[in-house]
Amino acid sequence: MVTDAPDIRTTCPYCGVGCGVIASRTTDGRLEVKGDPDHPANFGRLCSKGSALAETLDADGRLLQPRLHGRDANWDEALDAVASGLRAVIDAHGPDAVALYGSGQLLTEDYYVANKLMKGFIGTANMDTNSRLCMASSVAGHKRAFGSDTVPGTYEDLEQADLVVLVGSNFAWCHPVLFQRLQAAQAKRGTRIIVIDPRRTATAEAADLHLPLRPGSDVALFNGLLAHLATVGAEDTAYVAEHVAGLDDALAAAQALSVYEVAAVTGLDAITLTRFFDMVAATQRVVTVYSQGVNQSTAGTDKVNAIINCHLFTGRIGKPGMGPFSITGQPNAMGGREVGGLANQLAAHMAIDSADDRDRVQRFWQAPSMVSTPGLMAVDLFRAIDRGEVKAVWIMATNPAASLPEADAVARALEKCPLVIVSDVTDQTRTAKLADILLPAAGWGEKDGTVTNSERRISRQRPLLPPAGEARADWRIICDVARRMGFAGFDFASPAAIFREHAQLSAFENGGTRDFDIGAYGAVEDAAYDAMLPFQWPAPKDQPPGGRFFADGGFFTGDRRARMVATPVRSPVEAPSDTWPLRLNTGRIRDQWHTMTRTGQVPRLFSHLAEPFAELHPADADAAGVEDADLVTVRSPHGQVIVRALITDRQQKGSVFVPMHWTNPYASCAHADALVAGHVDPVSGQPELKHMPVAVDKV
Ligand code: SF4
Repeated sequence: MVTDAPDIRTTCPYCGVGCGVIASRTTDGRLEVKGDPDHPANFGRLCSKGSALAETLDADGRLLQPRLHGRDANWDEALDAVASGLRAVIDAHGPDAVALYGSGQLLTEDYYVANKLMKGFIGTANMDTNSRLCMASSVAGHKRAFGSDTVPGTYEDLEQADLVVLVGSNFAWCHPVLFQRLQAAQAKRGTRIIVIDPRRTATAEAADLHLPLRPGSDVALFNGLLAHLATVGAEDTAYVAEHVAGLDDALAAAQALSVYEVAAVTGLDAITLTRFFDMVAATQRVVTVYSQGVNQSTAGTDKVNAIINCHLFTGRIGKPGMGPFSITGQPNAMGGREVGGLANQLAAHMAIDSADDRDRVQRFWQAPSMVSTPGLMAVDLFRAIDRGEVKAVWIMATNPAASLPEADAVARALEKCPLVIVSDVTDQTRTAKLADILLPAAGWGEKDGTVTNSERRISRQRPLLPPAGEARADWRIICDVARRMGFAGFDFASPAAIFREHAQLSAFENGGTRDFDIGAYGAVEDAAYDAMLPFQWPAPKDQPPGGRFFADGGFFTGDRRARMVATPVRSPVEAPSDTWPLRLNTGRIRDQWHTMTRTGQVPRLFSHLAEPFAELHPADADAAGVEDADLVTVRSPHGQVIVRALITDRQQKGSVFVPMHWTNPYASCAHADALVAGHVDPVSGQPELKHMPVAVDKV
């Protein structure tokens, strides 16, 4: 039974849907969670992971105290060691010899002070995050098309569309509550759903049309769609004439392949292709939702722009029920972008490569060592550690020795790195085992701050419990280190104070020239911050928050016109061969999150899928002499995993799917991402996590 202690409203820490959660205290002292009926992301719904949050709150497995070189330490010792260690490396080798690698699990306030410390005070842009693995291609595609990293879509658009095209997204498993909202709209207004995915996923099962395209052929498909839209006269000529540039080059690239050649490249039959093209051409209210199948590719940015091209060409953007819509994987991937948490970004959606932006941020921060050039992106960052160029790295709330491509090489690089600092809730990760200094961080249920979901909605995460043991908030740890390094500008008393500065910077000399502006919150009182309701940005001073971007054009380029971008077809970097005959696709399952630091504590979340597996097509299983439930080795030149074979025709012939979640802090052959080569998109730096040639053998 629930007590009459006040309920606490907070936000789920898992996916980018950003569902509101209400926590209540029961009479026997436990916490219960349920969906917040007033939160505009979920209106009371929660998925299996969110519903199990209360079962992840005990201190079992938590890191409770700082550790220095394997021994327990107090906070003063640990913070002194971090500050003096970073200072020694900077003094001896310069600021670019240090790096920070963060996470979409950090709250915006954590991210803000980390970015300020690195880019304004230490003077290096070597600050990247695991969001590089998640949505960097989307960021780059938005900036090429719109001149800014603006997500034009909202969740309501999904409910107002007549056709929703889901590309590279197992929406039903990876963004379950949003999928439920889409299904409710489907039942109510007959929304049609098209799924574009090499696998016949749970999402594809619910679709009106499934296009099981060849992995990596999305650009050819959307180029074919653009050429078809031109052929059937679907161009919004007035919109394009007034608001779009780059049409001729983009169209020429799209028309380079005939529909039969598009069919050959994508592996789809011409009838299915034409049906897809006709459905899109005939429907005005189209939303194209895309996720990791688009982003995690060496052609990821081109895939994003090929999708956006079709929306710009038809003027289907910035209006109810239409537009391209990037759905982020992590709870705060958007918040990280807002404060400039990637190595090629500055704060408040300003750009490192703009002298004006650098000058503006430097003056606002009174920064002594402002960066002038972009830093190392995730894959390159760990290669620089391996080469000895980066000699100190601070890793926060993520496990790159298990989750980055070539994860075994990442682990070896960290073993050699002179100073590895890890802030996390647990020491039971492969990365934490490699730390010289381990800092216990507060986790979900203890943290206090804000996150931004996939539709630009900023919500509060509120504490339900005191931090376990001696754990501390990440923002506080970062500020304590900054002060010990002698930097002014980090005397924040609370996350509310950081949020105020973040909001003030977003409005500083903005004048409507940048998309991200939450200046209305620049003077928010602590009590009002505590009580803050979810709101969508933009929220400029003296204006109500929210509103629709691009309703009347008005993009953030110099001439206010969007850009269609020519996207020539490119194949994934590595092709299957006799030695490595199958393409590996890595991804998520329904009931687990990342490397299971939290969901792995809940036994009932294993009732859906209990152990790691490799999904194989029956013909490939036959060729390898593998039967259902056999143990198999999945190998590449970079590593191997041993998993259970799951034989199914949901998987395309010639491909294999392995979930990314299972890891082992002590083993080198237990991480799916260790198999993947570190090839990255040339624009976004996002790794190609879905096309690695591998071999499968019976154990
Ligand atoms: Fe949490 Fe995402 Fe599930 Fe919502 S859909 S409850 S945000 S995991």
